[in-house]
Amino acid sequence: MPTWNNIRADFPILHQQVNGKPLVYLDNGATSQKPRAVIDALVHYYERDNSNVHRGLHALSMRATDAYEGARTRIATFLHAADPAEIIFTRGTTESINIVARSFATRLKAGDVILTTEMEHHSNLVPWQQAAKASGATLRYVSVLGANAEGGLDLAALDQLLTPQVKVFAFTHISNTLGTINPVAELCRRARAVGAITVIDAAQSVGHAPLDVQAIGCDYLAFSGHKMCGPTGIGVLYGRRALLEKLAPDETGGGMVVNVTYEGATWKPAPERFEAGTPNVAGAIGLGVACDYLDALDRAAIERHDHALARLAYEKLSTLPGIRLLGPTGERGGLVSFAFPDVHAHDVVTFADEDGVALRGGHHCNQPLMRKLGLTSTTRASFYVYNTAEEIDVLVASMRRTLKFFVG
Ligand SMILES: *Cc1c(COP(=O)(O)O)cnc(C)c1O
Repeated sequence: MPTWNNIRADFPILHQQVNGKPLVYLDNGATSQKPRAVIDALVHYYERDNSNVHRGLHALSMRATDAYEGARTRIATFLHAADPAEIIFTRGTTESINIVARSFATRLKAGDVILTTEMEHHSNLVPWQQAAKASGATLRYVSVLGANAEGGLDLAALDQLLTPQVKVFAFTHISNTLGTINPVAELCRRARAVGAITVIDAAQSVGHAPLDVQAIGCDYLAFSGHKMCGPTGIGVLYGRRALLEKLAPDETGGGMVVNVTYEGATWKPAPERFEAGTPNVAGAIGLGVACDYLDALDRAAIERHDHALARLAYEKLSTLPGIRLLGPTGERGGLVSFAFPDVHAHDVVTFADEDGVALRGGHHCNQPLMRKLGLTSTTRASFYVYNTAEEIDVLVASMRRTLKFFVG
């Protein structure tokens, strides 16, 4: 398993005890920890450059603007986007998807179809339900196959579902509950063949593997900074320029207008048109530094590391009596979700916390999928660059202790 020398030294938060035990942080699917470089960038910005962007002519404002726009360019490179103007800063994945879904809500009509999948996070599900309700369009789902969703998306059914009535196809890159890696380039190609716009939820993928929006061929892609070593409250909506030019602004106000009279206003082009008000300047700068950090580690190596940990965790956990492991049996993203018949996930997580292990238990914002699988909750361990094979042993030992207590 590839590891980096001293990588844990880059993350100050990891060096603490929880309940008298060394912290084992395995809740990266919910949010990742931040390296010193990102924390320092935030401090540096607030100590030296803090100012409002775009509207100032003084030195600090110009520095802040340069750093903010520099972060946009950095993120365009990170995604291999054709143009920095295709990068819109948002609060995160949820806001990014809402911007696109709300614009579809005003354009779709009865007879149109919104296609998504049964494995979506609520953030890539509820906005589409709302868009369908508002517009009269029909919402359809690509099924997930297998009693433990091990079969992934039912791609054989896709040709039937992808009719010319489908105007938008929204799907996740990596499932936050299952670890399934969807074939996003193929999904985009098949959607394009019927003229459907594609929206990818990349919250679980963008910080974990190389990602190239042009190679994937997507129209929109959404992600959050905080799951990829960046700050909270900052994220990105990538959109192909030709589409952004036609997309109506979601929010209006300062910074996104060219000319305002008492009668009305005209909009700036993308990306400013979608960034009304004072943006999260520090967050954008921190996200740019997070991109530097991940690229310096090498994103292909991050992918190998995370996948190897997930495989190891899957193998070791599968030896536990009665455990039900969800998602693919082969290649998977860096997380493992599981359930025990006789122990509630909240008890599992509470016991693990006593051992210093941070896990997540619940429906993981996937309530319909849980219901389909006959579950109310699962326990999830999710991995990142600073996790180690030894930590998986601590996880498994903690699970054994829990089972002993509840099952005997
Ligand atoms: C975390 C997550 C989201 C939501 O991200 P926010 O940062 O809360 O907006 C959406 N989709 C997936 C797959 C996620 O893992």
